[in-house]
Amino acid sequence: MAKIAAPRGTHDVLPAEGYKWHALEREMRELSAAFGYHEIRTPAFEHTELFERGVGDTTDVVQKEMYTFLDKGGRSITLRPEGTSPVVRSFIEHSLYALPQPTKLYYITPCFRYEKPQAGRLRQFHQFGVEVFGAESAAIDAEVISLAMSLLAKLGVTGVRLNINSIGCKDCRTVYNEKLRAFFATRLDDLCETCRQRYEKNPLRILDCKNAACKQIYKDAPILLDNICGECRDHFEALKGYLDGMGIPYQVDGTIVRGLDYYTRTVFEIVSDNIGAQGTVCGGGRYNGLVEELGGPAVSAVGFGMGMERLLLMLDNLGIALPDTEGVTLFVASIGEQADGYAQNLVCGLRRKGIHADRDYMGRSVKAQMKYADKLGARYAVVIGDDEIAKNEVALKDMGTGESRLVPLDRLSEYLG
Ligand code: ATP
Ligand code: MG
Repeated sequence: MAKIAAPRGTHDVLPAEGYKWHALEREMRELSAAFGYHEIRTPAFEHTELFERGVGDTTDVVQKEMYTFLDKGGRSITLRPEGTSPVVRSFIEHSLYALPQPTKLYYITPCFRYEKPQAGRLRQFHQFGVEVFGAESAAIDAEVISLAMSLLAKLGVTGVRLNINSIGCKDCRTVYNEKLRAFFATRLDDLCETCRQRYEKNPLRILDCKNAACKQIYKDAPILLDNICGECRDHFEALKGYLDGMGIPYQVDGTIVRGLDYYTRTVFEIVSDNIGAQGTVCGGGRYNGLVEELGGPAVSAVGFGMGMERLLLMLDNLGIALPDTEGVTLFVASIGEQADGYAQNLVCGLRRKGIHADRDYMGRSVKAQMKYADKLGARYAVVIGDDEIAKNEVALKDMGTGESRLVPLDRLSEYLG
């Protein structure tokens, strides 16, 4: 029979690397808890309309990248391409705005985008994200940014840059969009097909186009940051003040517009130089209009999404090892039938106490059992035979140093520290 391969752009997490994901997720959960964020889990698929309205129908994500299909009931369904819109949907649906605000949420979740697979770009990838609702203060923008930066610092990541910008509110954007239209009016013929359509509907989106010809044109376009209103400018200045106060270094980059339509005011990216062309590990910002846009009350919000595969790639390239806390603590080798039964019960008893113990199930020789224990990376090993059972004494071998000491067999668990 012909073999079946995994779909392009997907990735199996094999048993040998599972611990990395667990370690990463553990750090994310612990840090989120320390910042007062609670986990939210939403379905892997939603009504397509949620993303059309939430992400914006002039974005690359909606125009080119969504996994959309009709289900057997004829409804248009889309696999989650990003984490924010589903969280907003849930926030509204369950009236979370009625609770004391702000609502601080985080998620760790797969996302699906039909993109050209390459290093750091997959069709199913994972995001760690946070969203805060109900607070307008730039202090919360700064908290969200500091959560992302703290995670990277805790993991030992170096050499990342935090770029921040403000893309203003709806009002500043209306004015700015007119300036942009004026700028692009004489250059329309040189823009790509998609951008020509964006010109009328949402010229700001042109500034996020990856097409080389478009890039060449928009690099001289007026900068949005130079055109924001007084209130938005104050908010941006306050953000910078909070970041300075927390000792978080940043650069202002007036060209960041982000790939999703819902952002207002603060936008930011955390970029690394050591993972190749797809260097953005984290992107986020404020999206004050989105809750209303999706049928909720006027509630402001801010958040980020962090690509977990890119983060792991970065850790690998920096030579940062995540702790493997899932290795075998004690390997119990045995000789003979009586010891086989004893080993089975011993391992079972230790496991019930939460100690990671293992043994041989393949009928290996003692020598081969010890070799296997070594392969498993066991910290300690014992060899049990009739003698050890009779004397209630066994040589406990530290696999790291190679040294052994005699310990009571029925009190083994006390010596595994
Ligand atoms: P890019 O400019 O790289 O396409 P984006 O602006 O589309 O990124 P966001 O929608 O902001 O990305 O998603 C947040 C993060 O998720 C990104 O910074 C990145 O780390 C990660 N990410 C986005 N798309 C992919 C993908 N196809 N494969 C792996 N990670 C991704
Ligand atoms: Mg993208």
